[in-house]
Amino acid sequence: MRQRLTLETAPGPLEHLPFRFERWTDGRVLVTNMVGEHVFLSEAEFSALADLRIADPALLRTLRAKHVVRQRGETLPVELLALKYRTQHHRLADFTGLHMFVVTLRCEHSCGYCQVSRRTVARTEFDMSAETAVAAVETAFRSPSPHLKFEFQGGEPLLNMEIVRLVTQEAQRRNRDEGRQLAFVIASNLALLDDEVLDFADEHDVYFSTSLDGPQDLHNGNRPRPGRDSWERTIAGVTRIRKRLGHHRVSALMTTTAASLGKVRDIIDCYLEQGFHDIFLRPVSPYGFALRPRQRRAYDMAAWIDFYREGMDYILELNARGTPVVETYSALVLKKMLTNANPGYVDLTSPAGIGIAALLYNYDGAVYASDEGRMLAENGDMTFRLGDLAEDSYDTLMTGAALLDPLEESYTGSAPQCSDCAFERWCGADPVFHHATTGDPVGRKPESAFCNRNMAVFRYLLDRYTADPHARELFHAWAAR
Ligand code: SF4
Repeated sequence: MRQRLTLETAPGPLEHLPFRFERWTDGRVLVTNMVGEHVFLSEAEFSALADLRIADPALLRTLRAKHVVRQRGETLPVELLALKYRTQHHRLADFTGLHMFVVTLRCEHSCGYCQVSRRTVARTEFDMSAETAVAAVETAFRSPSPHLKFEFQGGEPLLNMEIVRLVTQEAQRRNRDEGRQLAFVIASNLALLDDEVLDFADEHDVYFSTSLDGPQDLHNGNRPRPGRDSWERTIAGVTRIRKRLGHHRVSALMTTTAASLGKVRDIIDCYLEQGFHDIFLRPVSPYGFALRPRQRRAYDMAAWIDFYREGMDYILELNARGTPVVETYSALVLKKMLTNANPGYVDLTSPAGIGIAALLYNYDGAVYASDEGRMLAENGDMTFRLGDLAEDSYDTLMTGAALLDPLEESYTGSAPQCSDCAFERWCGADPVFHHATTGDPVGRKPESAFCNRNMAVFRYLLDRYTADPHARELFHAWAAR
C-alpha cells in the first residue's frame, strides 16, 4: 500500500506545455505560453527549457508558474490554461455589441484620406430611409449581446439627424422590454453641431466621437471644407459639448497622414492643449479613397513605426514629468499582454471581429461585416457584403459564407506564421485588411503591414517594459483601465 501511494504521488518527468518563442537581437528569448503569459530567458535558459534539463530551481519555478512545463501526470496546469483560454474567449457567446449605422454618405468635408465614397451635401438620395433604419434596429436586437452600442457614421451623420433620432428612439422603445445596456455615439466632424443636436444628445445620453488630426494647419490641410475652417469648427464643437454635456462626452481620433510624419510631438501637444489625455496614433487605412494609387504610397509602415516610437517615447517622457497621457492602441495591447482580459477591440481579436464584434448597416440597406468591408464595396469589391436588410434574415446574414469563411481562414490559431508566432495571443486577425491588400483573407505575414505594425508595437512595449521601471509601472496602470 505504502509503495503504491509513493508511485502515484511521485512527480513524473518534466514535459513541455504548448509554448512559442521569439528571439531578441540582444540574445534574450521571449517565451509565451498558450494564453499569452510571457517570460524572457537567456540563451542558456532557453536551451535548458528546450532540452528539459532545468537544473536551476528558480528557473524551474518560473517555467512551472508560467505553465510552460509541467510534471507528467499533473492536471492543474492544463486546467488553469483551459480556464484562462475560455475567459479570453468569453465574448464570443455574447457576440455583436457594436452596430454601426451609415445614415448618409453626404459630407461637407472632402478629406483626401476619406474612407467612403463621400457625396456632396445636396445628394439626399444617399440618405438612409426610415424603413431601413427600423429594420436595422430590429436586426441589432437579434444579437445576443447584453450591451448594444449604436454608432452613427457617414458621411457626416449630422446631415441626417432625422434618422439618428429615429434609430435612437426606436432602440430605446424596444429596450423597455429587453432591458439591455444601450450606448449611442455620433461620429461627427462637429462642423454642423447646433443646439438642437445638443438638446437631443442631452435627452438621450448620446456621446460624440470626432476627428482631430493635430495642430490647426495639419488638420485643415488633411480635412478641406468650404471656408477651410475644419479645425476651428471641431474645436468649437468640442468646447460646446463639454460645456453643455460634460468633458467625458466627446472623444477624438487622429489619422496619421504623410503630412503628420515628423510632427508627432506637435500632435500630442495639440491633444493636451485641447484637454484630451487619450491619443490613438492611428495609421491611415488602405480603404476607400485612401486605396487610390496617388495616396496609397503616401508612406509605408516603416515610417509609421518611427512615428509611433517617437510618439511613445514622448508620451512616456510626459507621464514621467507628471502629465498623464495614454496611447490608446498600446493600452489595448497591454491589457492583453499583462492581464487575462480581452478588451474586445475589433483589430485585436481572433476569431476576427468582423460580424462577431461589429455589424454595419449601410444607408441603402446593405449589411457589411465591418466598416472596412463597406469601404471596399464602395470601390466595387462586394466580398464582405453579408446581405440586405430587405431580403435577408438575421440568421442568413450571420451564417453565410461571406462571414464564416474569412472568420475560419484568418483564425490566428491556425493561420500560417500566426499559429507559430510568440505574439499570437496579443494580436488579432484582420481578414478585410489582408483581402484589400493581398486578395486573400490571410495574406503573407512577412509582407503584411498589419503584421509589421503589430510586431513593432509588441516589441517596443516589451523593450520599455523590461528596461524601464517607470514604463513598467505605467503600463500596468494602462492595462488595468
Ligand atoms: S499577424 Fe503577425 S504579429 Fe500577429 S500573430 Fe500573425 S504573425 Fe504574429
